[in-house]
Amino acid sequence: MGLTPAQPEVERSILLTTVDKMKRWAQKSSIWPATFGLACCAIEMMSVTNSRYDLARFGAEVFRASPRQADLMIVAGRVSQKMAPVLRTIWEQMPEPKWVISMGACASSGGVFDNYAIIQGVDHVVPVDVYVPGCPPTPEALLFGIIKLQEKITLGLPPKYLELAPEPGTKGAWR
Ligand code: SF4
Repeated sequence: MGLTPAQPEVERSILLTTVDKMKRWAQKSSIWPATFGLACCAIEMMSVTNSRYDLARFGAEVFRASPRQADLMIVAGRVSQKMAPVLRTIWEQMPEPKWVISMGACASSGGVFDNYAIIQGVDHVVPVDVYVPGCPPTPEALLFGIIKLQEKITLGLPPKYLELAPEPGTKGAWR
């Protein structure tokens, strides 16, 4: 059966996909981080929204002052014992699905602050999806971390808290 004249134009104009792929594309293209900085790393985090780094290119520049409107927590800086329950509460207030980026040596492992006052890794408090190394990580490194998170979302990999979730009906650390 031959092509009608209109068929090549139709083939160029129609994009076939699945609802699931569309959903993942929309999610990865509209990540809204919570406005939440803890120490020096936060200055680098703020830099990613300026014109030099332009986080808007990745659809993730809309930092929200309310955790109810955010789906990404960037833990930028050391987490003190006093701040840990506050951080956990903010994370719990974020709607699902949600993701966490641990930015810098302090957030990821306590960094140079190997003492009783600092949590030795924010994964003791919230499940972490992406770690960004450095002290401080450059804005480019944070952008790279956000791109890695977008790749995970595009591939359909579950957020870390779902990966760690216990079987339904059992009690677990993250629920
Ligand atoms: S990793 Fe370095 S820059 Fe970041 S909070 Fe710790 S000391 Fe500050």
